[in-house]
Amino acid sequence: MPQTSKHSFSIGGIHPAPHKESSADPTLLPLPITATIMLSQHIGAPAVPCVCVGEHVERGQEIAHNASFISAGLHAPISGTVVSIGDIPHFNGKPARAMVIKASEDDHTADTMGREQYWSTLRLRRPDRDLSESVDAGDIRRLIAGAGIVGLGGATFPSHVKLTVSKAPEVLIINGCECEPYLMCDDALMQTFAEQVVEGTELMMKSASIPRTVIAIEDNKPAAAAAISAAIDNRHAITLEVLRTCYPQGGEKQLVEAVTGRRIPSGALPASVGAIVHNVATAFAVWQAVADGIPLIERIVTVSGDIPAGQRRDYIAAIGTPLSEFPFSLPEHAKVIVGGPMMGHAAVRLDAPVTKGTSGLTLLEGKARGPVQPCMRCGACLEACPMGLEPYLLASYGRLRRWDDAAANYVADCIECGSCSYSCPSCRPLLDYIRLAKQRSKKTRL
Ligand code: SF4
Ligand code: SF4
Repeated sequence: MPQTSKHSFSIGGIHPAPHKESSADPTLLPLPITATIMLSQHIGAPAVPCVCVGEHVERGQEIAHNASFISAGLHAPISGTVVSIGDIPHFNGKPARAMVIKASEDDHTADTMGREQYWSTLRLRRPDRDLSESVDAGDIRRLIAGAGIVGLGGATFPSHVKLTVSKAPEVLIINGCECEPYLMCDDALMQTFAEQVVEGTELMMKSASIPRTVIAIEDNKPAAAAAISAAIDNRHAITLEVLRTCYPQGGEKQLVEAVTGRRIPSGALPASVGAIVHNVATAFAVWQAVADGIPLIERIVTVSGDIPAGQRRDYIAAIGTPLSEFPFSLPEHAKVIVGGPMMGHAAVRLDAPVTKGTSGLTLLEGKARGPVQPCMRCGACLEACPMGLEPYLLASYGRLRRWDDAAANYVADCIECGSCSYSCPSCRPLLDYIRLAKQRSKKTRL
């Protein structure tokens, strides 16, 4: 049975309504005829195309190389012909470089048949328990890099870089918290492919000589916790910890504290306290790359929000699929958010594609927020902030363009969780100003 310690982090946090209705049955979204692959869909240098316009590519073929150590390669999510490489508008309306691949009818039919067969057999397949013993650490890291795997919890940091460590961390934390309201993709993944997640975890442990792992899941996902607990079986180096639900528990610093009791100092990484954090979907992608040689060309995406119940689903979607190809009816005065409502970003274009970091599409009725009122010094934003910051003060510095003062008050530590804006009874757009101050104070320092 799942271990239920019910720890959580110690500072701040909020409890927004969860709106989660996950199932263990993600739907295969049909492959697109035209796929658009953004060249920068990870932290680090954009990938450099290694195929030309007019060239025919096969599904899974590398189409862009790592541009540097901190970068990630890209692979064709569909077979077809490269029809363009150039700027296209991203979901926020800003131009970004992308490669467009168009499938012929034959390409599309062959890809669809192969893909359906792969996913239906995967649901029935027991992974090989000796896999991590049959590959060495360097090969695992090379396969992860070669598959273009990045952090799939939203950070999109290249995973092979994170696993290239000079000193082995004491503990790997696999993040299955999925604390954002509405998002259910990790829950669905853990329920459906728990054994692959656990095998992928063992591969990551081996790749960086990590002796121990904790898979952390919040207590509002009992089915996922039960599936992971069963999949761990008698592996003594891996334990499951069920955490008390609290937003933003999935933040690296909050999660490390909840699991180990150690606080990460300002400006430092989890490695400073002997920890490393990866998402459950990243563990699954690692397993796919090592066991099946499959690069990161698909991911699970949640579609949720103020839409009919039958349309709220998790989909296995190819990277590059236009957001408009998910079946949903837009609510009145719709607000479309790529990601969840707390940390996601508003979308102005639905012809933009799914990227490696697209965890969900949240479609909300555009309800008017209350009017912005003066700050009443209630302190709710201070109580909510999980980083121990003073959000009302940082927002004021952002509004007044006092970047140096914002920096001196640790604006760089803000994890942009939105807990402050959510808690403010005066409806002040705290996060908007804080984000601005964070960006501008970073530029000032460069
Ligand atoms: S968005 Fe930043 S300032 Fe606001 S609560 Fe989160 S960490 Fe604190
Ligand atoms: S929550 Fe809003 S009203 Fe209260 S102190 Fe913070 S900014 Fe002011």
